[in-house]
Amino acid sequence: KLAYDNIFHSFGSGAETLRGVSLTAEPGEVLCLLGPSGSGKTTLLRIAAGIESQTRGRVLLNDREIAGPSVFLQPEKRSIGLVFQDFALFPHYTILDNVRFGLTALSSAESKREAMAALARVGLEHHAKSYPHILSGGEQQRAALARALAPRPAVLLLDEPFSGLDSRLKDSVRAETLAILRQSRATAIVVTHDAEEAMRMGDRIALLRDGRLVQVGRAEDLFQQPANLFVASFFSELN
Ligand code: ATP
Repeated sequence: KLAYDNIFHSFGSGAETLRGVSLTAEPGEVLCLLGPSGSGKTTLLRIAAGIESQTRGRVLLNDREIAGPSVFLQPEKRSIGLVFQDFALFPHYTILDNVRFGLTALSSAESKREAMAALARVGLEHHAKSYPHILSGGEQQRAALARALAPRPAVLLLDEPFSGLDSRLKDSVRAETLAILRQSRATAIVVTHDAEEAMRMGDRIALLRDGRLVQVGRAEDLFQQPANLFVASFFSELN
C-alpha cells in the first residue's frame, strides 16, 4: 500500500506543481494516474520513488513513513520499482545485466538467478544475452518491467509505459503488462494521459488537474458520475 498524505511540490520557480494531493494505492491494485500534460503525474511518481522531494506532506509505504518533514528513505531502500517512459535500458549492457542492475546487494550467482527468474516472468529468457537495440519496442518495455520487478518491490510505478510504442503494438503490450502486474501482486501506479488506457488498465483511476486531484474512483464511476465538466470532457470521446 502506498499513501500520499497532503503532498505539495514546486520546482522553486514559483508555481506549484502539486497542491495538496492525498491518495492511497491499495495493496495489489492497479491505480491509473490520469491527467493532461503538465498536471503533475510524473512528479508524483518521482516523489514516491525518492528522486524528487515534496515541499510539504508525507509518503507512506505500508503505513511506514518513507518521506516527510524529518524522514527521507533512500530510493534503493524503498521497495519501489520504477519503469521510465523511455524504458531507460543501458545500451551497452545485455538484457540480463540490465536486470541485474537492481540486484547488486545479492551475490553474483543469486543476482543471476533472480534476474533470470524476472526475465522468465516477462517471457524474455531467450534474450538474456541480447543487447537492448535488437529487441522490439514491446520487448524493451518488458525488459524494463523485468528490471523493475527483479528486486520484488512492494510497489511498482510506471510512467507512460506504452507511449513509446507503435499504436498497433499497444493493445497487446498493455494486456501482457497487466497480466504480469497481476501475477507479481505488486501495488502498481500507472501514469497515463489517455483516458481509454486508464479505463482498460486501472482498478481505479485518479484524475489530476493542475496539481490537484479532481476525482478518484472506478472507471465507471468517473464515466457515469463525473464530479465536474473537466472529468466529463476527459471521458466524453469514449463510449
Ligand atoms: P507530462 O505528461 O507532460 O509529463 P505530467 O502530468 O507528468 O506531464 P509533470 O512532468 O509532473 O507533469 O510536470 C508538472 C509541471 O512541472 C509542468 O508544468 C512542468 O512543466 C513542470 N516541470 C517538470 N519538470 C520540471 C523541472 N525539472 N523544472 C521546472 N519545472 C518542471
